[in-house]
Amino acid sequence: MVKCSFCDRQAVYVNRISGLAYCRIHFIEYFERKARKTIRKYNMLNPGDHVVVGVSGGKDSMALLHFLLKLKKKIPGLEVTAVLVDEGIKGYREKTIPTLVNYAEKHSVKYIIASFKDYIGATLDEIVQKSFELKLPYMPCSYCGVFRRHVLNTVAREVGATVLATAHNLDDMVQTYLMNLINNSWDRILSLAPVRSSSEEYIVKRIKPFYEIPEKETALYALLNGLIQPEFNQCPYVKYNVRFTIRKLVNELEDKYPGSKYGLLRSLLELIELQNKVELVEKKFMQCAICGNPSSHPVCRGCVFRAQLGLLKNEEKLKLDVLLRENPDVAKLFKQSGSGKQLQ
Ligand SMILES: [Zn+2]
Ligand SMILES: [Zn+2]
Repeated sequence: MVKCSFCDRQAVYVNRISGLAYCRIHFIEYFERKARKTIRKYNMLNPGDHVVVGVSGGKDSMALLHFLLKLKKKIPGLEVTAVLVDEGIKGYREKTIPTLVNYAEKHSVKYIIASFKDYIGATLDEIVQKSFELKLPYMPCSYCGVFRRHVLNTVAREVGATVLATAHNLDDMVQTYLMNLINNSWDRILSLAPVRSSSEEYIVKRIKPFYEIPEKETALYALLNGLIQPEFNQCPYVKYNVRFTIRKLVNELEDKYPGSKYGLLRSLLELIELQNKVELVEKKFMQCAICGNPSSHPVCRGCVFRAQLGLLKNEEKLKLDVLLRENPDVAKLFKQSGSGKQLQ
């Protein structure tokens, strides 16, 4: 039995980099201290902020919701609303929605269930089917990622939130970094900062409080707090996912050379820092002409996907027709996204 480095209790976790062992109580303390430090370091939250938390009912997002509710006691006027995006994946979401609903009701948290069906016009299952019939070149996870962001941004604006928090952890960041390196997608790498904000009122500040916390630790935090069931609930589309392979590779690397993940994260942060100095890529936000969400193009990726899948509402279709006639950049977006193969 390994003993906690700080008391006589049995350890539940050993940090392989520092060699320190933690019992349940000291692990929770260590975890929350680290997340609070990230929030301070990147100036993520301020008194009076209204935070919308994207919650999937899985371990990372339940951990984030739980942590933010505890933080509420320390930041005056902090308001927290949980938003569960229901993608409409048969046999999967039915299991995670009750996790959130039970938790929210027990802790009197405000929550909203926002479905792809309502906000996008079709469930992910229907989208995947349609995309297959139309022979579009995208994997389920491309749609899911783009549309989840779309729904979260829309809901955050609807409820007047000042901050949108997502539960991306260190492992997520490192995996996305590597995937974008492979794709040579520099503009996307530079958007992987822990905080993204802008003075434009349609852009809700986006934060990732678990940016520097490994997945192993967010999972343990969720388990130790009784936020999730220990059984593993996996998305059925994961087999189409390149991230799955990258994740395995990075975990093997970390296993052999502890600290590799932090090393990659530092390299990512350094790159973002460099770009802020030299403006390698012109980073400007625009407002999508169709849905009003922030976008790096005149029409956001979510709306390009919706148009290709035939999911635009009539008035949106008319708007797009005008744009296609008047703005050659918009037509290009449709061409690019037809041939560009992105790893997701
Ligand atoms: Zn202890
Ligand atoms: Zn849009």
